[in-house]
Amino acid sequence: MISENVKKLLGEVPLKNPFGESVSVVAAVKTQHVSAINEAIAAGITKIGDNHVQEFRDKYAEITGNPERHFIGHLQTNKIKYLIGKCDLYQSVDRLPLAEELAKRSKSAGVVSNVLLQINAGNEETKGGFSFEEAESAYAAVKKMQALNVLGIMAMLPFTDDEELLRSLATKVRAVYDKLNAQDGNFKYLSMGMSGDWKLCVECGSNMIRVGTTLFGKRNA
Ligand SMILES: *Cc1c(COP(=O)(O)O)cnc(C)c1O
Repeated sequence: MISENVKKLLGEVPLKNPFGESVSVVAAVKTQHVSAINEAIAAGITKIGDNHVQEFRDKYAEITGNPERHFIGHLQTNKIKYLIGKCDLYQSVDRLPLAEELAKRSKSAGVVSNVLLQINAGNEETKGGFSFEEAESAYAAVKKMQALNVLGIMAMLPFTDDEELLRSLATKVRAVYDKLNAQDGNFKYLSMGMSGDWKLCVECGSNMIRVGTTLFGKRNA
């Protein structure tokens, strides 16, 4: 079942977005058993993203196939130490104190950490991230921090069926991505789109989607 879902999704995701960039798929694995995750990897998933440090740690050694490990959830600064050197991409850098602590811990461990700046596109109180207005100063601050490599933006869009709203927000995120990337040309990833909206997001310029439900089915609450 999972393996068919993976093959179906990988068949549907276009090789390139309208900007000519390849589109990668990150499996959002929160609450999934190791067996399910390993089945997805065996079927072609090469990147997995966790939301919880505890789950990341518990499953770490049991994951097979050597996928990239991403962190995509709210990260408490006191838990960074468990991820240092093990996380290939911190997608959810949503506040400056988190970036500062990540830089400090990375430096003392002698590693460089790859990060994305999280944008809260709908300005929702329940979601973390920088607003559109804050994005530029956040990038200026984080790119100066030692031992961090800012590779792009991760965007959270509101849960809504309003396609027009989603399209306008996703387009705005892409414009911010292009504007910031024009400064240094260091960006690789615009991570935007989940099970319900990834097609629209890729059409608007996302080049990395984070998909859970489509691969693993509905999560138990
Ligand atoms: C759970 C989650 C996803 C995947 O959501 P689905 O709707 O199940 O595809 C993507 N991004 C983040 C940050 C998540 O927490």
